[in-house]
Amino acid sequence: MPGCDSTSGASPVIGVLALQGGVAEHLAALDRSGAVAKPIRRPEELDDVHGVVLPGGESTTMSRLLHSFELFDPLRERLAAGLPAYGSCAGMVLLAGEVLDPGADSGKDPAVTPFGALDVAVRRNAFGRQVDSFEAELAFTGVDGPVHAVFIRAPWVERVGRAVDVLAEITPHGSGVAGAAGRIVAVQQGRVLATSFHPELVRGDERVHRHFVQTVRAG
Ligand code: GLN
Repeated sequence: MPGCDSTSGASPVIGVLALQGGVAEHLAALDRSGAVAKPIRRPEELDDVHGVVLPGGESTTMSRLLHSFELFDPLRERLAAGLPAYGSCAGMVLLAGEVLDPGADSGKDPAVTPFGALDVAVRRNAFGRQVDSFEAELAFTGVDGPVHAVFIRAPWVERVGRAVDVLAEITPHGSGVAGAAGRIVAVQQGRVLATSFHPELVRGDERVHRHFVQTVRAG
């Protein structure tokens, strides 16, 4: 399959799931990070990608759309076969093995059906419904210097399996949200990466996307 070709030396093709949410920001950040980025709306568009990004948005809505666009099973199969993936915020929820508080928020969307690509339990809207968004500086393993992290109705990771590396946590006074200190907000398991926050919204800092592109290249 073309997606299994070696990518060393060339720019990897990275698809961004483009059913809902912050698609354009990820496409732009990937383009600036040395990848060839393309939106994914149809199953056959997955055929030539070396990696995939699941953007932020609303995980219940994306879950419903994945099924109605007949993308859920093809993407789950590619992920199970080792396709590198990066999920931000709602994308983290979709990659998880277990979703705590899985929905349905709107009444019309069913609960999230996650892909199980990461051995983690993720709690949706974990920082409390009263806090729609906040920003924090984080140490991020594999990235030099602090990362400015934007959280929008974000999840956190509540349990990690043994194969999962924790890349970032909320610092003791990092969020102002009670109970948030020490919460896990970035993880990686092999070539699957997830962040509770949105690096794609911080213009001029592509370090997290570059970390993912490097992970895809290393395959
Ligand atoms: N609260 C949303 C969800 O659980 C995620 C929000 C986001 O992606 N910014 O799907």
